[in-house]
Amino acid sequence: MTETLQISQLGDSALRQIAQPINNVHESWVQTLINNLMTTLVKSNGVGIAAPQVSAPYQLIIVASRPNLRYPNAPTMLPTVMINPRSLTHSQEMAKDWEGCLSVPGIRGLVPRYRAIAIEYTAPDGTMQQQELTDFVARIFQHEFDHLNGLVFLDRVESTQELVTEQEYLKRIVSTSADLK
Ligand code: ZN
Repeated sequence: MTETLQISQLGDSALRQIAQPINNVHESWVQTLINNLMTTLVKSNGVGIAAPQVSAPYQLIIVASRPNLRYPNAPTMLPTVMINPRSLTHSQEMAKDWEGCLSVPGIRGLVPRYRAIAIEYTAPDGTMQQQELTDFVARIFQHEFDHLNGLVFLDRVESTQELVTEQEYLKRIVSTSADLK
């Protein structure tokens, strides 16, 4: 049995805390948290989620890009659970694109992120994994990784002029979707 967890909203101090590493991924509470986070992510049409968003102050994120109502142009990948993730290296080049957040409903912002990033994390079976991520998936990782350090995408936006409502964002991506993949 899994349950849908309540997502902390901007202003909740849970979003501003530094997440703790998970020492033993095989403990049952870790597996329960993974299952519940996955259920919550699917229910909310997210492409990623971090444990601090459900008030669990641990270094656990899920990156799960797929096209949905909130991100119609997202690439498809298998949902990937990353425990104690860290960034190894990244490209010099950055790109700006729209982000939203389940903890900041109704708002989108243009956020600069590294275009490519090499990462390391522990998988739910306890094995260490290394991976290179690019473009939208690299963006999701950086967004979720920020949550582990108490940051939200609003902290990365360069100007408040680059914040729009969800409704305005949907108008823009429909009109420019020929440019996006
Ligand atoms: Zn978020």
